[in-house]
Amino acid sequence: MHDIFVIGGGINGCGIARDAAGRGYSVYLAEMDDLASGTSSFSTKLIHGGLRYLEHYEFRLVREALMEREVLWKNAPHIIWPMRFVLPHAEGLRPAWLLRLGLFLYDHIGGRKLLPATRTLDMRSDPAGKPLKPIFRRAFEYSDGWVNDARLVVLNARDAADRGAVIRTRTKVTAARRENGHWIVRTEDLRSGAVHEIKARLIVNAAGPWVDRVLAETVGQDAHNVRLVQGSHIVVRKKFDDPRAYFFQNKDGRIIFAIPYEDDFTLIGTTDQDYDGDPRSARISETEIAYLCDAASEYFAEPVRPEHIVWTYSGVRPLYDDGASKAQEATRDYVLKADGGNGQAPIVNIFGGKITTYRRLAESMLDIVEKHLGRKGQPWTAAAALPGGEFEATAFDAEVVKLKAAYPFLEMPLARRLTRLYGTRARVLLGLAKSEADLGRNFGADLYEAEVRYLVDKEWAVTADDILWRRTKRGLKLGKEQKAVLEEFLHGIGPGVRNAAAE
Ligand code: FAD
Repeated sequence: MHDIFVIGGGINGCGIARDAAGRGYSVYLAEMDDLASGTSSFSTKLIHGGLRYLEHYEFRLVREALMEREVLWKNAPHIIWPMRFVLPHAEGLRPAWLLRLGLFLYDHIGGRKLLPATRTLDMRSDPAGKPLKPIFRRAFEYSDGWVNDARLVVLNARDAADRGAVIRTRTKVTAARRENGHWIVRTEDLRSGAVHEIKARLIVNAAGPWVDRVLAETVGQDAHNVRLVQGSHIVVRKKFDDPRAYFFQNKDGRIIFAIPYEDDFTLIGTTDQDYDGDPRSARISETEIAYLCDAASEYFAEPVRPEHIVWTYSGVRPLYDDGASKAQEATRDYVLKADGGNGQAPIVNIFGGKITTYRRLAESMLDIVEKHLGRKGQPWTAAAALPGGEFEATAFDAEVVKLKAAYPFLEMPLARRLTRLYGTRARVLLGLAKSEADLGRNFGADLYEAEVRYLVDKEWAVTADDILWRRTKRGLKLGKEQKAVLEEFLHGIGPGVRNAAAE
C-alpha cells in the first residue's frame, strides 16, 4: 500500500512526488505519456511574479511567485537563471507612471536579494533600442527568471525517485475506487497493455488540463472546475543579439514576450484563447500566428512574418474557473480541493497554478496530506538543490570551466550545453570518456550516444521526441532523417530496458 498516488507527471505532480518522498511518504506517480508532455513543456518558461497580474489585483500570487524566483534559481542554477526584461514605453498605452508603480511593487514585495532592481533606459543610446523602431525612446528594465520548464519537471521526478518514489510513465490511470478506507487505482501500461491495481491511502489529482476529465472518467464525479485556455508561441531565427528579453504591450491590453532562445532563436508568445478539445491536440491557429507576428512587428524595426517561423508550440492552461469574462483575466492562482476524509479515502485535486509556484503548491498540498495521513517530515525543499544544481547560483560559468577542465576534449559550446542541461550530473553522463570517440555515435548537433543513453537510463526517455523536444531542444537543429536514425537506435535499446532502468 502506498501513502500517496499522484496522477500526472507535469510540474505539479512531480513537485509533489518529490516533496512527499523527501518527507518519508511512500509515493507512486503515474503519467500517461512522457513526463512534461502536457502543459509543463509548453510554457513561456518564465520564473516570474507576473507584472500583468498586478492589474488584476492578484497580490498574493504575485508576491509568492516573486519570492520563488531566487529560491528556485539557487536550487537549480543550471536550468534556471535571471533574465532582464526591457519594457518599452509606448505612447497611447499604459502611462509611464503606471509602469513605474507596477515595477516599484515588483521590486519591493518580492524578497529580491541577488536580482538587480528596475532601471530606466534611454533607447536611443542603449543597445536594447537597436532592433526596435526608433519611436520607442524610453523603456524600463526589470528582473525575472528563465527556466527550462521540461527539465524542471524531469529533475523533480529524478529526485523523487532517488528518494524512493515510484515513477511510471506511459501509464494511464483508468479507474479508481474506494475500498475499506483506501483507494484501489487501476492503471494501464500504454505500451504493453498490462493492467495493474495499486492500493493507496490518498490520491493527488495533478492531471493539469485533464483534471476534470480524470475526476469524471476515473472517479465518476461530474466536475467543471477548470477553464481551458490555449496559449501559443512562435520561434523565429534570432531577431537580436542582446541577452535581454522584451516585454511588449499590445493595443488590446494583452502583452507578449520576445525572448532569446536556444542561442540562435527568438521565442515570441503568448496568446490566450478559450479551448475545448483534448489538450494534447492543441495547435497554433492561423489567427494566432497573425496575432503574434503583428504584435511583435509593432515593435521590431524588421517585421516578423509567418515565413520566418521555424517552430511553434501550443499549450493549454488549466485555469481555475473563477467566472472571469475574458480568458486573459481568469486567475492564474491555484486552488486545491480535497474530497473525502472521515473514513472515506481522500482525493485532492489541483486547479490552476504556474510553473513558478509549483514548489509552494507542493508545500500546500503536503499540509493537506498531513491532515489526512499524519505528519512525517518538515518542509525541506526551499533549500535543497535539484539534481545537478549543487553549485552556487552565480557560479554557472565557473561550472562550465570546471567541466571543460575535467573533460578537455569537449568543445566549449558542448561543455556549456551539457552544464545547462545536467549541471554537475554532466560528469555522470560523460563518465570515463577521454575523447569525443568515447561518447559514441553523434546523432547530429552534438547529440552523442552517451547523452542519449543517460536520458534513457536516468530520465525515463523512450522516444526521439522525449529526447529532442523535452529533455533537450536538439529538435530545433536536427532534420527528419536524423530523427529517424535516433528513433531506430532507441528501438534497438529495447522497451524493457527503457524506463524501468530509470529507477
Ligand atoms: P501538466 O503539465 O499538463 O501535467 C498534467 C499531466 O497529467 C500530463 O502530463 C498528462 O499527460 C497527465 N495525465 C492526464 N490524465 C492522466 C491519466 N488519466 N493518467 C495518467 N496521467 C494523466 N507558468 C509559469 O510559471 N511561467 C510561465 O511563463 C508560464 N507560461 C505559460 C504559457 C502557456 C502558453 C501556458 C499554457 C502555461 C504557462 N504557464 C506558465 C503555466 C504552467 O505551464 C502550468 O500551470 C503548469 O505547467 C501546469 O502543470 P501541471 O502539472 O498542473 O499540468
